[in-house]
Parts: sequence; C-alpha cells; structure tokens
Amino acid sequence: MAVLGQWQYFPKTHIAALSLIVLIVIFAVGEHSDSKQKREIQTLTVNGESHEEADIQEEVEYWQQTELKSGDNLSRVFTRNSLSAADALAIAHSAPKGALNLQPGQMIKWQNTADNHVTRMRIETSPLTAHEFNRTIEGKYDYKLDEKVADRRPRFAQAKINSSLFLDGAKQGIPQATLTELAGLFGWDIDFALDIRQGDEFSLIYEELFLEGERIGYGNILIANFINRGRELTAVRYEDKKGEGQYYDPSGHSMRKEFLRNPIDLARISSRFNLRRKHPVLNKFRAHKGTDYAARTGTPIKSTGDGKVIFAGRKGGFGNCVIIQHGSRYQTLYAHLSKFNRKARKGRRVKQGQVIGYVGSTGLATGPHLHFEFRVDGVHRDSLRIKLPKSRSISKDQKAAYKAEAKRMIEWLKSQQGTQLASDESLEMSNPT
Ligand SMILES: [Zn+2]
Repeated sequence: MAVLGQWQYFPKTHIAALSLIVLIVIFAVGEHSDSKQKREIQTLTVNGESHEEADIQEEVEYWQQTELKSGDNLSRVFTRNSLSAADALAIAHSAPKGALNLQPGQMIKWQNTADNHVTRMRIETSPLTAHEFNRTIEGKYDYKLDEKVADRRPRFAQAKINSSLFLDGAKQGIPQATLTELAGLFGWDIDFALDIRQGDEFSLIYEELFLEGERIGYGNILIANFINRGRELTAVRYEDKKGEGQYYDPSGHSMRKEFLRNPIDLARISSRFNLRRKHPVLNKFRAHKGTDYAARTGTPIKSTGDGKVIFAGRKGGFGNCVIIQHGSRYQTLYAHLSKFNRKARKGRRVKQGQVIGYVGSTGLATGPHLHFEFRVDGVHRDSLRIKLPKSRSISKDQKAAYKAEAKRMIEWLKSQQGTQLASDESLEMSNPT
C-alpha cells in the first residue's frame, strides 16, 4: 500500500525525466550490438578462447524494456515483442496472485535468448518494487519480489511570503504537493485565501526520498511552523503504535479539529436533510439541504467546530444567518436567528461550542427553529449522517513520549532557522559596503 503511495510523490517532470532515460537506454542498446560485434571480432582475432566468455557477459547485461499501455496483459506484451507465447504462460503460472496485475505506466524489462525465450523478466510496479522471474533449466520460472527501501532524507526549507504560499514556497524549492499538505495542516487555524499577509513566514522539515543516490520523490512533513500576522503555529508529526502519523501542536492537541454533531443541546429535530421535501411556507417541492431543530426563541446556538465567521447578517429566506468556515474543506450555516452573539462577527475566529447566536424565526420560517447546514467542499451533506472528521489529542500514556519528541523536533527546526539566519548575517558582514 505504501508502495502505491510512492507514485503519488512523483512530479510530472520526473516522469518526463524517466522517459528520457528510457530513450537513452534504447539508444544505447541500439549502439550496443555494434560495439559487441566489434569486440567479438577483436577477441576472435586476438584470442579465440576468451570469445565465449565475453559473449555470455554481454548477454547478461542486455535488458530490453517496454512501458505498459492501457489494456495490456502479459500475452499482448509478449506478442508485440515477438517473445515466446509458451514463456508468457509459464510466467503466468509461476506468478503469485496480484503479481500480474499490470497497470499502464509500469515498466517490463526482460532478457531473452536469440530464439525469443525469456530468461529473466522484471515488472517494475514502482521505483521501489519489482516482480522478478528467472528461468530455470526445466523452462519454468522462479519468482522473487524485489523490494527496495527508499532512503528518507530530511530537508529544511523556509520562506517569507511576498505573494502567496505556493509562489514563495516554490521559490525555495519546496514541491507543490508538500505545500498543499502544509496548507492542509494549518487549514483549521489559518484561512489561506484571506488571512495570509505579506511578511508571514513559514519553515518546515520534510522528507525527500532517495534510491541509489537519486531523488525519486517526497515523503512526509516532519514538522512545520507558520507565523501568520504574528501568530505562531507549529505542527509536529507523531506516529502512533500502529505506525500511523498524525499532526499535533506542541501541547499535544490534534491539528485537525473535530465537530459537534448538533449545534443545540437537547433540541427536537423537526425536519431532516431531504432532497425532495414540500416546503412548509412556499408549499412546493424544494430540497431541504439541512437539519431543522425546533427550540424556543432565544435558545443559544453553538458553533459545531473551531473556525472563522465568514458571514453574519441577513440572507434572504435564511433571515439572520451565520456561516462559519472550518479548515479548508468544511462550512457550517446557522439560519433564522433572532439575534447574533456580538463575538460572532464576520472575520472573527470562534471555538467549538462557542455561542454564535440565538434561535428565532427570521426569514422564511413557520416558527422558531434553527436551520443548520453542513457543507463539505461546497456540497451540502446530511450533518446527522455524515462521518465527521475525527481528531484525537495525544493519549495520556503517549503524552510524555510525544512531548519529548516534539521538544526535540522544535529544537531541530529552530537550529536550522538559526544556521540559515547566521549565514545570511555572515553574507551581509562580508559585504564591503
Ligand atoms: Zn431548514
């Protein structure tokens, strides 16, 4: 599973580079037979005995390869390359379940004899994994899973924001996927569309994946720090006992916040999410894209999650309405309020459970109730049925271990920031003006 994930780390440029390598290899292979012939002639004329040895060696190194196309299977690849159909069957026979689950873009490499028998074959499913088949004397194949482990090297990067997180991050060589992940980490606390100011800074340590000295992709963000208008936020990656990584702030609270299921305690649900409901006031079929809670006028309404008020005012049939943005993906809407809480003004941050307004019947409402909506990526979802994002703080038994780890990581990040600053200073100092 982790192996499949590695492909996602592949930037397009890398795939382009790979294809280039393929071209070079093919080109080299074309030349190869010439030089082999020349060498053979040389060995023949100089020393007849060494000829056989040289020939075998050349044969072993001679790999051919092809990239799998959509709809390919082993027999099609063999036919296309004039390889023995019997060998395709024998390989299929020796392959364990799943090994021949060929996908477009994967590489098949093989060595074959002059009469088109495959002696070795590799199906490379990722830069780290290959299924390998070796022909035995009986004409069968031995199967071996060849798994390599990427070398994870931490890389420090920092940037000051001039235009945007993505532009200024890219200038520092941080890959887009890592910047997207960074925005997601802090998305519950910072609105990257509205909150970012010139002069905001961030720094992080993330993994680069190397195989045999060559960078093949990117791994996880290990720690990230963001200073947004003077407010400093830090996220540290920590793996639980099952090896699953999550991000926490230095005191051990999850970076990902959770939601309350209901914005009012002990209220009766008077109308559920229903995409085909007869509207009680308009008396025609109209989707009800939320949940109604019947409650007395003045009953306090709570924000179901940490977030930022992006709207507080009158909004058509909704009457007095509050909309809160949570992270980058979620929005909640509260309608028909009799009045607002003065702390829930547009642009203000609110905490989960904080009172944002009071039940009323403003707008299109037959009686006092709260109309509540939950949107994910802009789509209305049934708040009573949707699986809400879970977040857990570090458990008690892990807390001490986490705090020690977080302290070590923060010191590491700060020490990197220090070296960078020091080198900047030394540059300035060496400047003769
Ligand atoms: Zn409603």
